[in-house]
This record gives sequence, C-alpha cells and structure tokens, in this order.
Amino acid sequence: MKYVSTRDKDIWVDSAQGILQGISKEGGLFVPTSLPCLGDLGNLMDMDYRELALYVLESFFPSLGNEDLEEAVNKAYDNKFTSEDIVDIKKAKGISFLELYHGPTLAFKDMALSILPQLMKLAKGKKGVDREIVILTATSGDTGKAALEGFANVEGIKIIVFYPEDGVSKVQKLQMTSQEGDNALVVGIRGNFDNAQSGVKEIFSNKEFKDLLEENNYILSSANSINIGRLVPQVAYYIYAYIQLVKAKEIQLGDQINIVVPTGNFGNILAAYYAKEMGLPVNKLICASNDNKVLTEFLRAGQYDINKDLILTSSPSMDILISSNLERLIFHLSNGDHKLVREKMEDLAKKGYYEISDLNSSDFYGNYANEEEVSQAIKEMFDQGYLMDSHTAVAYSVYKKYREETKDDRKTLIASTASPFKFGQKIASSIGIHSQDRDEFSILEEISKLSNIEIPENIRSLKEKEIRHKKVIDKNEMKDSIMEFLKVGGRND
Ligand SMILES: *Cc1c(COP(=O)(O)O)cnc(C)c1O
Repeated sequence: MKYVSTRDKDIWVDSAQGILQGISKEGGLFVPTSLPCLGDLGNLMDMDYRELALYVLESFFPSLGNEDLEEAVNKAYDNKFTSEDIVDIKKAKGISFLELYHGPTLAFKDMALSILPQLMKLAKGKKGVDREIVILTATSGDTGKAALEGFANVEGIKIIVFYPEDGVSKVQKLQMTSQEGDNALVVGIRGNFDNAQSGVKEIFSNKEFKDLLEENNYILSSANSINIGRLVPQVAYYIYAYIQLVKAKEIQLGDQINIVVPTGNFGNILAAYYAKEMGLPVNKLICASNDNKVLTEFLRAGQYDINKDLILTSSPSMDILISSNLERLIFHLSNGDHKLVREKMEDLAKKGYYEISDLNSSDFYGNYANEEEVSQAIKEMFDQGYLMDSHTAVAYSVYKKYREETKDDRKTLIASTASPFKFGQKIASSIGIHSQDRDEFSILEEISKLSNIEIPENIRSLKEKEIRHKKVIDKNEMKDSIMEFLKVGGRND
C-alpha cells in the first residue's frame, strides 16, 4: 500500500513513513493510491468495535504489522471510553445519531487520537527512528485536548498545542490549560484558528527550523487530520454504524443510507467518503457547515473563497476557512491530477481563492446553518428528548434542509461529534436557561437536571483542576515558544 503526495505523485511513502512525517515535504498531503475493498459486508457482521477497527487499520497500514496493530487497538479503545461499544447509536425523530464522543475528552477526536500515539510508536519502531518526536498541533478546540490526552506521558514524544485564545469554548479552554504531563505544552494565540493553523503549517515547511530541531535530535510530526494516521481510524466507525443499523433491523444489508457530518477541516467526512469508496452502501454524504460556509460554496459552485473574515460561532471546532482535507478530495475526484491540486493550492495561498468547474462532486450535498437555526435545532430535539451539542445541531439543521429540498427519506445517520456539556452556553441560550454572567459549572448543572443526563466526569472534575498553561502569544512568536520548551537554542548562541 503506497501513499502519494497530493501535490506530486512521484513522491510516495509507505504507511509508517506517512504517519511519522504527517505531511509531504513540498506541502502535499499523503493519500492512498487505491482504497481497500470491503467485499461482502456480511463477513463483518459479528465484529465488535475493536475487531472492525483492526480490520480497517490492517488494510490501510500493512507496514505496521498485524500483531502490533492489534495491541495498539486494544490499548486505544479500552475503558477510557465510557460506552461499552466505544460508540453509541441513539435514535430520535427517526434519525440515527452516531455518538462519537464517549472518549476521554468528550469529542469525536478521541476516536482517532487515542490510537494515533500507538501508531506513531509502531511507525517509529518500523523505521528505526530514535529521535524524539515533537507533535505540533493547531486546534480549533477539540483536537488539542484529544491530542494532549493521547500523547501525554508517552515516552519519546513531546506534544505542543496552539489554540486561538478567544476561539474556543470555556470548557475546551479549561480542558487544555489544565493539562498535566511534563511532555506537554499548551499556548494560546492572539488570533483565530486559521492563524494558528497557518503558523503551524509554516513551521512544517521551514527547512531551516526543521534542521535546527534535527540537530537537536527531534523530528516534527502532526496530530491534525492532515496526518493519514488520524484519518484512517475514523473510517471504522462508519462501517461499524452501518452494521449496527442492519443488526437493529433499521435497514437491510445492502440498503443505501445517507451520512451527515458537521464539517470543519473535512477530515471526518472524508473518512465517510473513504468508507463509501471501499464499498459501504452510502447514497449522499451531507457536508454540514456553520456560518463559515466555504465548503458549501465549493460543493455548490466550485468556488473556494477565503477572502472574508472568519466568523466565531457556537460551533468553534468548525470555525475554519482553510479546510485542509478538501485537498485530498480534489485529488481523488480529479483522478489524481496532482498538477491541478498544486496549482489550486498555490492559488489559495496567493490569492485566497480558486475555482474548479468540472469536478464531479455528486456524492456530496453541501449546506450550512446559521446561529438562529442551530438554536432552533437544539431546542427542537431537546423537546423531543434528545440533547445534542452545537456541532451536531449544525448537522441536524442541514439535514432538514436536505430533506426538504430532495424529499429523500432514506435512513440517515448523523455524526454526533461532541458532548453537549462542552458547549454549555449555546445549549443554555437555546433551551431557555439563563446564562449571562453565570458560572459555567452551574449552567452545566442546570442542563444536567433538565435533560436527565449526568455531567461527564471528565468535565465535572475540571472545576478542581489547576491551570498549568497560561501563556498567550502572537503568531510570530510560535517558533520561540517551541524552542524554549524544547530547550533548543538559536543558531548564534
Ligand atoms: C473537529 C470537530 C468537527 C469537525 O471535524 P473535521 O474532521 O475537522 O471536519 C466537528 N465537530 C466537533 C465537535 C469537532 O471537534
């Protein structure tokens, strides 16, 4: 199994190298040259979550070794997850919600980031790398904590997280700034997520800085969904969910379903696309955006335009204008036209705009939901007895638009990506709880009472935690804080 760069097909690596490196040296993302085939789904019916995850990982990452992968899966998907099946499927109003947030940090990012450290350790071993790995991550809120949780205290790995100071929820910020572990650094950036992400990307393509780190026995890697090791574990839950729907007699084996994904960096929905391409019976992949609707515009008109202000919404993990994984989709839909990808990504970097008119993206439906619609969605489902977070509410809202437009009433699965208790303010204002100037935890208590759902322990315990990471910097100081943390001096000292 080969992974080629989206911007230069002549550059290829095996899975171990792709996971270690994160991103190709000329800025492209690694993509598999062909996708494994699921074959007869009937053969997968009796697998539990771990078995299915292993099946998917083995088929994408043969160079990591099957036995080692099994151990990695067992270490990742253990009782850190409060759901016995790792994921839950809840039915409300005829729709199935695939709850992906029962991991340690209460967002779907745990599904991949609890196993990525294991995959990196394996890849390091297979490649005979003895340097210390430095994970550099920009976060819109959930990746940061999930990566910290996954990589904290892992030997031979250090983790550095940059988050937009005013672009994350209170609980998200507390989760990150209270992180323990000597190998972890968390720093706030004055700016938005795109500033943090482009800062990190700049560092990845800064040869001089990378050389400096290498001289000091470090190598950089990424825990963002640009890393193929982040993407592949996410394929598993779509297949697993489909099988559970068959088992629950919601559908028959072979029936097509729709999948709705609240989208930011296009990682989670790309994983669903991979599952479809592997043979999972999927009709439409419904790409749900918030007010930052660049993906809606692209899927509808073929125009990608970031010459506008990023809007801070109640779904901060989707407050993104530069949606990294769209690059992978363009590569696949253009049958691997790396020249096209390179040209468009250069346009994006230079002009903040590109246009592709002849891409067949009919597997996808794109739309967005504004703040008012998100509030309505939360309230509507709450009244029906289902509490969903603001990101999931974006998905639900967009699904309603899809239904209305198409009259397609096929069985539909909505990816439910975070615990509502991570986004208390929005839940409160949507269902009529007074929230202004009020302590976050008392708001959560009230939501808990009204919904009859307990506040997850990992959020409740934040109240007592010491804030250990207080640093906030400008974007141009990112390199300095990395050097300080790694105790790497400048060239002249
Ligand atoms: C990260 C995140 C998303 C967006 O996922 P992408 O893979 O970036 O598209 C949606 N919801 C939540 C809660 C998230 O944390």
